[in-house]
Amino acid sequence: MIEFIDTSKVYRSDGKEIKALDQINLKINKGDIFGVIGFSGAGKSTLLRTVNLLETPTSGKVLVDGVDLTTYSAQELREKKKEIGMIFQHFNLLNSKTVFENVAMPLLLSKVPKNEIRQRVMEVLRYIGLEDRSNAYIHQLSGGQKQRVGIARALVTNPKILLCDEPTSALDPQTTKSILNLLKKVNVEYNITILLITHEMEVIREICNKVAVMENGRVIETGNVLEIFSNP
Ligand code: ADP
Ligand code: ADP
Repeated sequence: MIEFIDTSKVYRSDGKEIKALDQINLKINKGDIFGVIGFSGAGKSTLLRTVNLLETPTSGKVLVDGVDLTTYSAQELREKKKEIGMIFQHFNLLNSKTVFENVAMPLLLSKVPKNEIRQRVMEVLRYIGLEDRSNAYIHQLSGGQKQRVGIARALVTNPKILLCDEPTSALDPQTTKSILNLLKKVNVEYNITILLITHEMEVIREICNKVAVMENGRVIETGNVLEIFSNP
């Protein structure tokens, strides 16, 4: 589903070179909830962002469904990106807009007809349990509700892949549990492959079936969560 092949990324800033990704080789299979764990600066965020081309690899490649997206035309890429949803630590929602408007945004941008937008947005809001808050403004919501809206916005285009950038790091433990349960449900019921980055072991233990450990731009260990995190 997602394959990193000798993927490297070098940032250049102030005349210095930072190797954020150093020849990553990793395969994420359809249906996985694949976790990437590591300390801050390990390269997790960069890795995640190469999947939907928010970052382009300096060398090597990333395949999505067997295709290197850098070879796509702008039009093909726009279509493909609908299949890749993303959620963020700080939600990245538009605070001056309502829940409905935030979730509708990806459909508005791809010029889906108005009545279809209404139907799909309400359907996904029902699914994540915020149907009754559709007209609330983002600033009126709790952190957990905001992340639910983030998940709804990601799901509304019916993606096959969900990229999760520290999805629970801004949430308290109880809210974290409920968001992780929702992601588990989404994985099964929407048949979505999840790639998640985190610095929290608990998140990996709670929902991931596979894990890669990153350090200094490299994957230093990879395998099943039970194998890698089994208590000695
Ligand atoms: P993580 O998500 O594990 O915290 P990142 O992928 O954000 O790691 O960062 C990996 C390394 O690349 C860090 O040293 C970070 O400072 C650096 N880095 C990330 N983004 C940029 C950028 N846009 N320009 C320069 N350096 C960057
Ligand atoms: P996160 O909470 O996702 O880890 P970061 O603080 O690592 O966020 O990065 C926030 C943004 O700043 C990202 O877009 C990242 O690419 C960029 N960034 C991170 N480190 C650097 C750096 N050393 N120089 C320039 N940009 C950076």
